[in-house]
Formats: sequence, structure tokens, C-alpha cells
Amino acid sequence: MDSFSKERIIAYFSMEIGVKSDIPTYSGGLGVLAGDTVRAAADMGIPLVGITLLHRKGYFHQKLDPTGWQTEQPERWDVADYLEKVNAETSVVIEGRTVYLRAWRFEVVGAGGHKVPVYFLDSDLSKNSEADRSLTDYLYGGDQRYRLCQETILGIGGVKMLRSLSYRNIQRFHMNEGHSSLLVLELLTESMKAKNRKKPTPEDFESVRSKCVFTTHTPVPAGHDQFPAAMADGIIGDHRGFDIRDVLCSGDVLNMTYLALNFSHYVNGVAKKHGEVSRQMFFGYEVDAITNGVHAGTWVSDPIKDLFDHYIPGWREDNLSLRGALSIPKWEIWEVHRKTKHALLDLVNAKTGSEMDMDTITLGFARRATAYKRADLLLRDPDRLRHIVKKAGPIQVIFAGKAHPADHPGKELIKRIYQMQSGLKDFIKIAYLEDYDMALGKLMTSGVDVWLNTPEPPLEASGTSGMKAALNGVPSLSVLDGWWVEGWIEGVTGWAIGPEDREAGEADSHKKDAESLYEKLEQKVLPAFYKNRDQFIDIMRHSVALNGSFFNTQRMMQQYVLKAYFF
Ligand SMILES: *Cc1c(COP(=O)(O)O)cnc(C)c1O
Repeated sequence: MDSFSKERIIAYFSMEIGVKSDIPTYSGGLGVLAGDTVRAAADMGIPLVGITLLHRKGYFHQKLDPTGWQTEQPERWDVADYLEKVNAETSVVIEGRTVYLRAWRFEVVGAGGHKVPVYFLDSDLSKNSEADRSLTDYLYGGDQRYRLCQETILGIGGVKMLRSLSYRNIQRFHMNEGHSSLLVLELLTESMKAKNRKKPTPEDFESVRSKCVFTTHTPVPAGHDQFPAAMADGIIGDHRGFDIRDVLCSGDVLNMTYLALNFSHYVNGVAKKHGEVSRQMFFGYEVDAITNGVHAGTWVSDPIKDLFDHYIPGWREDNLSLRGALSIPKWEIWEVHRKTKHALLDLVNAKTGSEMDMDTITLGFARRATAYKRADLLLRDPDRLRHIVKKAGPIQVIFAGKAHPADHPGKELIKRIYQMQSGLKDFIKIAYLEDYDMALGKLMTSGVDVWLNTPEPPLEASGTSGMKAALNGVPSLSVLDGWWVEGWIEGVTGWAIGPEDREAGEADSHKKDAESLYEKLEQKVLPAFYKNRDQFIDIMRHSVALNGSFFNTQRMMQQYVLKAYFF
């Protein structure tokens, strides 16, 4: 059994957890955040255990054909190469059948040696039916029924697996997004059993609420998981002493977000602005905000690590000390940044033959390819771009990001950027890299000169890639949404695109944002880079000192500990 104490433990539930770049059990921001959360917990000695699904066939492997159209291939990985099979089994009832589950363990070891285990639930057991064996195969694959079966395994199976691993004294159940909300059903059943009750009473509800914490990540109602009540009843209705439609559903739907909201004593959004948006969306609920962070030791590139080790010893254990970045000599941070830029451009040139060069300002844009992120905003007006380049200096841009297989507009977006490459190449070099993952994310956020972000407000709950860039001394040029509202100081930590306050559904906002983006590039960003290098480097240092020191998971976890876990 595990060497650490199983007393007062935090059970952290997430549909995806990115424990390592090449273990494809994550698709994007949510999973990377979950990975950074467990890494920070391990560093800080927080008694936490992670629960997720195995995703034996991963998210997917992205291929772009010569027209830029994305196709997907299963991303097979050898589970036993990375994870340790544990000697514990449990089961859940799905559609009246018993589905058996086992678990695999990954141990995250913190800077001081503390270990945080992450358990990956697996239904691929020979005693299950063929169809049930595939339930833990694909992350965000399949139809609604498949998803609800997965969420049953994660929520109900997760609690039961923890019990069979002898985690009895769990202080808090933390639901990272609503995918794991069904855990409240299992906790309710446990509470009733302990009191020998056939129906839940207010005391049972209160007992569940006192143990649960919920973090919401989605600023639009359509983004919240919901299922027809009849489907839910068919999948999880069996063997309960009560009708789940009465207890969990409202009207004809089982909404996972409302389930988590109703059964949690602490709820938070992932940036201050996202907290406000969530309070409006979930009227009548108390929603706090804890702004996301990234794990400094994971996201700082090796050359920058050496630099920090020299000038800011102890920065890994005390991320706040990164404020000392202001004392790093300017030429030195510049030279070290050029090393990471070189590594990135080598890779880009080898993969795409785009002949990017070291002296041209390089913009980076990598995130899920989906319409609201507006990856193509920069390319909206090629004539204007041509004019900017002529007047203020050359630009090159590196893109990456996968579209969800069912997101047709997202795929169109990739294709559009891909196809614009050749038309623009005489005055602006563009590359689109395949298979965005954590390793590529690290290389890009540290190797470009400016990190670009153009979401349509208020749709970016937080965003974390700009935080990775800041830690590496790379300033952001970004729309004021998510974390950037808090991280932005104009001309000090980067630059804003568009206004701070805007009307919802404002007409021609794309056009206005593109206009603002062009203006900032022409009048602020390129002049600083090409004509006032000193000022540019000062912005780099302030990115580390003001933002790297704050937007990290060490500060984030301290807030979870104080607000959500041990009180
Ligand atoms: C950091 C990261 C993300 C999340 O970045 P956003 O800014 O929230 O889009 C997504 N995918 C990968 C691979 C990452 O490393």
C-alpha cells in the first residue's frame, strides 16, 4: 500500500489528467491543468489522490493532408510501459449489467520526494462484454450514451475504487469540471447505507455537500454536459432506493453542472472574470474564483531553468521569488531566449520547410482549433498585414492545435490557415504544426517572441498557455479575457487587443478586434522588437517577475487549500 497517510485526503476527479506529454490521456487545457495540479500537490506535500479514466486509445493522432484537412488516427499506447497495474477491483451497474473495473497507477513525485498517486480506471477486463470493455477507450469520443457510461465509471466507479484501495477518510471530493458529478450519487448511497435508510434525507444531502468541491470551467450554457433524464434512468437508475429523476434531475434533464452545484459546499470559476460570468449564469449560487496557474518546474524551458537557477536559486520551491527576474541582466535573458527560439525554429523548419529565421519576430498561437478562439483573426486582412510588414518589419507565425473530430468549423479553420500560407509567404511566413501536445506546447510557449491569443470574450474561462509563455519571459498580445484581464499591464507585461469592457454580442467585433490587433502590432509590438530592444527585453523580464511569480499552480493550490480543502 502507499507509504503516505490516507488520512484527510483530497480526492481529485478529472475526466482528463495530463501526467506526461506522451501519455495521451488529455486533450487540452483541462487535462494539462489537472496534471499541473497534481504536480503542484506533490511538490507541496498535499495529501491528494487523482482519479481519471485510462483512455486506452487516447484522444487522437492528428494528420493534416496537403489541403490542410485534419484526419484522426487512434493514438495507441502501451499502458504497461507507463503505468503500474494495482491489485484492486470494483464494479458499477450500467443499464442493469455489472461492469467490472480495475485501476492503473502513475506516481507523481514532487520536488521534495512526496508522492501523489493518480489512478486510471479501466473497463477492459475479459469478464466484461465486448462493448463494455471499450468504455474506457476514447477521451471525448462516442455518442451521448457512451459519454454518460464513462461519467458513471468516473464518478461512481471512482469513489468505489478509492474505497477498495482503502481510502476511507477522504476529506474532500474535488470535481474538476462536471464530468465526475455522479460521484455525489455514490456518496449519497454511502450516507444512506451508513444510516440504514432507504430514502435520502436532508441530513444525507448535507453530509454529501460538506465533502464536495466543484470547479467549473465553461462560460457558456451549451458547454455543460447534460443528458435526457430517461437516458440517465436507463443507465444508472438500477439498484437505488430512490428515483434518480426525483433526486438528481431537473425536469427532463440530468445537467452535470447543476448536479455538482447543488451538492458542493464550495464552487469556483477559474479566473476572476470567469467567476463573475459564472455568477450571472448560475444565478442564486455562490461561485468564488481561484485563478488558474501552471506548474513552473514543468513549463520553464531548460535554458531558462539554468538562468533562473543562477539568478533566482530556490525558484522551484518558492515561485514567488521569480519576482527577482527584474535583476537578471538584459543581454543575458535575451541570449538565453534565443537558444529556445533556435530549438523551436529548427523543429519548425525541419518539419515544414518554411525557412523561418532567427532575427524575425515570431508570433505563436497554439490551442484547440475551435471557432471562438479565432485562430485566423490575425490573417483577416492580408493587405493590411502586407502594409504593416513593409512599414514596421517582418513577421513569422507558428500555429498548432487539434480540432475535436466532430468540430467541423474547427477543421475548416485549420484548413483556411493552412491554405493561406502560400499566398502570404512572400511577406509573412506561416507554419502549422501537427499534433499539438504538452511537449510542443512547452517548446512553442518558450521559443516564440510573442504569444498571441484572440478568443471571443467572454468565452475563454482562463487560458493557461499565456502563463507558460510568461514564465519563460515571453509576453502576450491578447484579447482581454480569462486570466489576461488580471495579468495585463499595457506595455509592461504585454499588450491588449480590443477594449476592456464590451457589450455582449456586439456587432462587427471580429473586425474591431482585428483592427486593434493590427494597430498594436504596427505601433507597439514591432517597434519595440525592432527599434527598442531594451524596452522589449524589459517587458520580457516583467512577464516573469509579475506574471510568472503569480500565475503558477503553487499559488493556485495554496488558495484551494485555504478556501476549499481544509476548511
Ligand atoms: C497549456 C496547454 C493547453 C491549454 O492552453 P490554453 O491557453 O488554455 O488554450 C492546451 N493544450 C496543450 C497541449 C497545452 O500544453
